[in-house]
Amino acid sequence: MILIDTHCHLFSSEYADLPGVLHRARGRGVVAAVAPGVSPATNLRLLELARAHPGAVWPCFGFHPEHLFLTEQDFQMVCAQVREHRAALVGLGEVGLPYYCLADTPDVKATAETGRRRLRHLLGLATELDLPVALHAPHEAAAEAFGLLREADVPRAVFHWHKAPEEATRRILEAGYFISVTPEVCYRERDGQLVKEVPLDQLLLESDGPWPYEGEFTGMTTEPWMVSLAAQTVARIKGIAVGEVADRTTRNAARLFGLNLSRLPAPRGGR
Ligand SMILES: [Zn+2]
Repeated sequence: MILIDTHCHLFSSEYADLPGVLHRARGRGVVAAVAPGVSPATNLRLLELARAHPGAVWPCFGFHPEHLFLTEQDFQMVCAQVREHRAALVGLGEVGLPYYCLADTPDVKATAETGRRRLRHLLGLATELDLPVALHAPHEAAAEAFGLLREADVPRAVFHWHKAPEEATRRILEAGYFISVTPEVCYRERDGQLVKEVPLDQLLLESDGPWPYEGEFTGMTTEPWMVSLAAQTVARIKGIAVGEVADRTTRNAARLFGLNLSRLPAPRGGR
């Protein structure tokens, strides 16, 4: 059984022992992770990590829409980085629309407008450079991000850790985009319901580490191995074998991000 964590922020200081993190993951069949950046510095860090762990770490460059401390200069820098390092990247992400941060900003309208302008620009870049997009667009932001994807003619995208009104989800799926779920699916009804609605060939699994989870994961550092438990839960919900969930979601990840499956490390035996 081979699984891919399609969204883990491996640059995080919580992953100081990255060889250990990847080793634990391989023990559960999670042989590789797609690693999205969120800023100029984290993007470059991911290039180093990908070089150090070929086949196990697949980098994306991004600009996190909720990080209001990032400047316009940072944004321009990320755009330049994406062009410069295109050949080393498997995607553009994490990018998207500000949503949660709007609650703490004094000027909601201006922040939302800046976020929209930046996403529009980034999606244009994705189309131009033929990069798939890992989107942060929760709840009401999903419908708007979907509109921007269509406007920019982006052919390949995933709505990462998806949660949105049913109508938005339906349109995303009809357009052929992917949706991913996190370990939250193991304990939260909302995510379980979503899995029922998403066809297996449009579903991806991710940890979104180091974001902390509740339920059985309370108090634990989120790591890619947890994707194996998400796979088990999806199997239970869909009423199929976990091996089939692994097989299909791994092929989805390879299709979306253009990963060469023959380059993935082997899982560790004895699980
Ligand atoms: Zn993320």
